[in-house]
Amino acid sequence: MIKSVRIRLLPNNKQRTKLFQFAGASRFAYNWALDKQMDNFREGRKLQSDYDLRKEFTVLRNSGEKPWLLDISNNVTKQAIKDLCIAYKNFFRKQKQAGYVKYSPKKRSHFARIDRKPTVYDMNGHPKFRSKKNGDFRFYQDNVKIQFTNTHVKLESIAGSKKKNRQRLNWIRLAEKGRIPVGMKYTQLRITFDGENWWLGIGFVVKYKLKPMRGLKFVRKQPKRPYTEGMGIDLGIKDLAIISDSTVVKNINKSHTIRKLKKKRRRLQRQVSRKYQINKKGDSYCKTSNLIKSEKRLLRINHRLANIRANHVHQATRAIIDRKPRFICLEDLNVQGMMKNKHLSEKVQEQNFYEFRRQIEYKAHWARIPVIIADRWYPSSKTCVECGYVKKDLKLSDRTYICPHCGNVIDRDFQASLNLKRYGETELSQSAS
Ligand SMILES: [Zn+2]
Repeated sequence: MIKSVRIRLLPNNKQRTKLFQFAGASRFAYNWALDKQMDNFREGRKLQSDYDLRKEFTVLRNSGEKPWLLDISNNVTKQAIKDLCIAYKNFFRKQKQAGYVKYSPKKRSHFARIDRKPTVYDMNGHPKFRSKKNGDFRFYQDNVKIQFTNTHVKLESIAGSKKKNRQRLNWIRLAEKGRIPVGMKYTQLRITFDGENWWLGIGFVVKYKLKPMRGLKFVRKQPKRPYTEGMGIDLGIKDLAIISDSTVVKNINKSHTIRKLKKKRRRLQRQVSRKYQINKKGDSYCKTSNLIKSEKRLLRINHRLANIRANHVHQATRAIIDRKPRFICLEDLNVQGMMKNKHLSEKVQEQNFYEFRRQIEYKAHWARIPVIIADRWYPSSKTCVECGYVKKDLKLSDRTYICPHCGNVIDRDFQASLNLKRYGETELSQSAS
């Protein structure tokens, strides 16, 4: 299976400049190709193939019309054009899908308001122009030629010359040691800038050691694991997860650190918008260096928040898997539905529910633990765990469940997790028989 890793790069100044140049060239080639294809469409010609576009781009490059292109590795622009062709393919594939709408209702009403007809470009899923303004800094490199050592990665043609002492410039330091195995086949190579740091994303095939099984000999046998119970996990806003063994994963967003950071962020946001207002010249905004500084600080806080949240989910899911339950049963949360509630949407977003589920699923897969997703309409919190009575009028504010049938009094979320555990048990025994 493919394992993917994202690792921070520590480029020196020369390398950093080069990375930005590469990203710019990638953007240029992508937009150039998109422009070409849209021209083709407008004039009723067929779209050009990947090969044709690349050939034409090479002509442009060698013509000297854009001299800066000559400094850029051919590979970077080649990959960008390939990327566009893939984007088009996806676009056409989506159009063929059943129930596909050309324009989303939101877009339709927008164009009705400004009294303009939407064009092909406005269609759902049509490739869009990449822009520097949106912070689009990314490029690809050939994943065959890339090389790693324990501490460095070698990218192509950062150094302008082939001289040996210059070639050292091609090696960029990695922020973590030994994360990426040396001398493997790599895939999904991408290099991105998040406004603060450069990152390298890469995938490689691992023959992972199965835990608790060692080697691949016992694949067909059930893993020998001390008999443990299954786990029902109820996800929530108050706590991130309530588990049927009566443990709880805290909601990290209530922690002191996050609260402090959010307060800081609010203050900075106000500061930034005030600075925008002060520097307004007529209809246009002017960015002063102080404003840029504040925006950078704001970005940094946002990254910090995202990192803390992501780390929390990773630690929580890892701890759950390490307890080696017989199975894990999760509810199928309707996150999109919850996002529509404006009082909840921010809190739901902060909880990373999708990420939690995704991690549970793949980490359980590695550890060979079955994961059961309960039906979306299964009333996990409305059902009495003692007698099975379904209380239909249970409100979100009712934290304690009092059963009108048998008088059972229990915490609402804990009961939901117990119900989910039971759900998992039934599902498993049914699939076994
Ligand atoms: Zn009851």
